[in-house]
Order: sequence, then C-alpha cells, then structure tokens
Amino acid sequence: MGKQIAIDGPAGAGKSTIAKRLSAEKGFIYVDTGAMYRAVALYFIKSGKDFHDEGVVEKSLPEIKIELKYVDGVQRVLLNGEDVSTEIRKEEVGNAASVTSVYPPVRSYLTALQKKIAEENNVVMDGRDIGTVVLPNAQAKIYLTASVETRAKRRFDELTAKGESPVLSEIEDDIRDRDYRDMHRETAPLKQADDAVLLDSSDLNIDEVVAEMKRICAEKGV
Ligand code: C5P
Repeated sequence: MGKQIAIDGPAGAGKSTIAKRLSAEKGFIYVDTGAMYRAVALYFIKSGKDFHDEGVVEKSLPEIKIELKYVDGVQRVLLNGEDVSTEIRKEEVGNAASVTSVYPPVRSYLTALQKKIAEENNVVMDGRDIGTVVLPNAQAKIYLTASVETRAKRRFDELTAKGESPVLSEIEDDIRDRDYRDMHRETAPLKQADDAVLLDSSDLNIDEVVAEMKRICAEKGV
C-alpha cells in the first residue's frame, strides 16, 4: 500500500486549499474527489437530463467517462475527454453534485476509480467518505471542519474575488442544505471516521492549518 492521507469534511472547510499545499510539500498526488462528483453532475446539467431521477442517472452512467490528468502537478478533470476543470467550480454544479452523489451507482463508479489511483500513487485525497469508505486504511485521517458562518464567508470572498456578486445569506443556506444532504444520505454519508483527527479551522489561517496537518501526519508516520 502506498502512502495515504485522507481528508474529509463539509463544503467550504478549506480541504482543497490545504490538501494542495500538503501534497506539494510531501510530493504526493492530490486527488480532489469532489471534482469527480462535480464532473458527473455537469454531464447532467449539460445534457439536460433530469438528475433528480435516480433511474435516469443510473441509466446514463455508461455514457459518462471521468478521468484525472496531472499537468505540472495540477489535477485536471476530464469529462468524456473534455477538460472541465474550470466549469465544474460553479455553485450550480456543486449543488447538483450533492444531489447526484447520493445515488449508490454514482458512488460505486467513482469510489472504484479513486481506490485505483491510490493503489498506484502516494496520495492526499479529499472528499466526504475518504477515511470511512475509500481509504479505510489510510495512515493519516483528518476531519477538517469550520462553522457554517466561517465557511460561507470564505466562499463569499472567493466568489467576490472572481468578479461575481454573491449574496451571503444565500451561500449560508446552500451550505446548510448541502451539509444536510451530505450527512444524511444512506450511502457513504459525511462523517468523521473513528480514527480521524478532528481539526476545526474556524479560527486558524491556512499556514496554521497546514502546520497542524503536518504535525498530525508526522505523528502517524506519513
Ligand atoms: O468538495 P466539493 O464541494 O467539490 O464536492 C461537491 C459535492 O460532491 C459534495 O457536496 C458532495 O455531495 C459530493 N462529494 C461526495 N463524496 C466525495 C466528494 C464529494 O459525495 N468524496
């Protein structure tokens, strides 16, 4: 088994920023599993198929090919051969992903892909079910969280910096809805693995979170 660092937590806790930094420092591959769920959701948005219908989603899966590619160490996500790394970042796609990710056939398709990547590489992988389902034997597991208010404010700042005009209260509502769906679904709900270390980033800056992660990884020998 390669080296595995599993990071789980709710939307907007800072997982991807931290995981990118940590993977660069360790020389591991960063696997953003949320991007894979977003790419599946994007397929349904683009094709206009009803993604609220589990039967439709399951029937369409054979038409959806998700691949990860690394360009200068940066993960790119391909949907049926097309690089959709930028398009999947839209709020609409994240919200749709939390709907389609509930369906077991979507989860088993992507879980198998994620396990395969971890078999072939040393990884920092982030998502919702990494420590519990995808990499249950990871050497280090971290559950990264922050308050809803902190997470909404961070998302608000990110979108504003991109030139968008978000409404803070709407982002807070979306985050609450998404947390609820992610935590209450039947298959692979978001939860802290028994052997994961809880890290609350509400009052920490990025450098402080990375330092704490590195300390946890060192303690676990990875
Ligand atoms: O992390 P990100 O916000 O990009 O994930 C988008 C959505 O994909 C999440 O809200 C969640 O519903 C789903 N997801 C998941 N399991 C993962 C990663 C993401 O269900 N491992």
